[in-house]
Amino acid sequence: MSNPVETSELTKRYGRSVAVENLNLTVPSGEVYGFLGPNGAGKTTTLRMLLGLTRPTSGSLRVFGKTPSAGYLSQVGALIEGPAFYPYLSGLENLRVLAGHAGVRRTRVDAVLETVDLAERAKDKYRTYSLGMKQRLGLAAALLKDPRLLILDEPTNGLDPVGMADMRTLLRKLAAEGVTVLLSSHLLAEVEQICDRFGVITNGHLVAETTIAELRAGGTLRVRAEPSDRAKTHLVSLVGAAAVHADGPAFDVRVAPGEAGRINTALVTAGVSVHELRWREPDLEQNFLELIGDDDHAG
Ligand code: ATP
Repeated sequence: MSNPVETSELTKRYGRSVAVENLNLTVPSGEVYGFLGPNGAGKTTTLRMLLGLTRPTSGSLRVFGKTPSAGYLSQVGALIEGPAFYPYLSGLENLRVLAGHAGVRRTRVDAVLETVDLAERAKDKYRTYSLGMKQRLGLAAALLKDPRLLILDEPTNGLDPVGMADMRTLLRKLAAEGVTVLLSSHLLAEVEQICDRFGVITNGHLVAETTIAELRAGGTLRVRAEPSDRAKTHLVSLVGAAAVHADGPAFDVRVAPGEAGRINTALVTAGVSVHELRWREPDLEQNFLELIGDDDHAG
């Protein structure tokens, strides 16, 4: 079966300026893919191309194996550029209007309101909703046609921690039901618990792809021991020189967390006295900045 999203050398230029260049992106079925990048990186342009809202300058893209056209959109739900709702109508009435336009049966409106946890406030006017509720109503609208793929532009932007947690729970629930999700964000912290995999885009280029597991890898063992030159010799022989980084009199040793006991025993047996042996969790943000080559901020 075709992947929900596949692009090859996808490029979009506006006059002389390049919004997206040679983008190769694959989102397999069932994945929650985070499309990360700063403002102006080319995220919205890419999502708009996938939805057939703007044409690529060159390269190709496939959504469920087809070039975007009105036909496949029945399998795709989108939340892009803020959904347009009538402020003086309720959430329920707004969705009924949209369902009418889309030829979706009315019972589906009740189902999606349940899904996004808005059933209780469905009869309140849209203008009384919090930002989180507005975003969830936008998602409800995107779900009306029971899509297999959701394309969401900055769905967590501006949400408070509760709104963020609600959105996270909701998207993970949809993913568990088999919906593939492609969402954009400019903040890793907003989406690290939602996404399985990330693509990082800067200046129109996909500069890295990673998983949260990869970002979480790479914690270090902090070792302070004396005499420190002998400690170093033993650490190097235990784990290799590349994994031992001297930080003043201490060492940061890149090993798996379970190695601490073995290292402690080896040092003590060799007559080195160990003052400190502490596992330090990796810094997700730091690993991320290193990955995307942001030397100004990576330490
Ligand atoms: P943001 O989060 O700020 O929306 P983004 O990553 O979604 O950022 P895009 O909106 O895709 O970025 O913009 C990428 C680049 O293309 C920017 O330099 C933008 O100014 C330019 N661009 C986007 N749309 C147009 C347009 N219609 N005409 C000219 N330039 C455009």
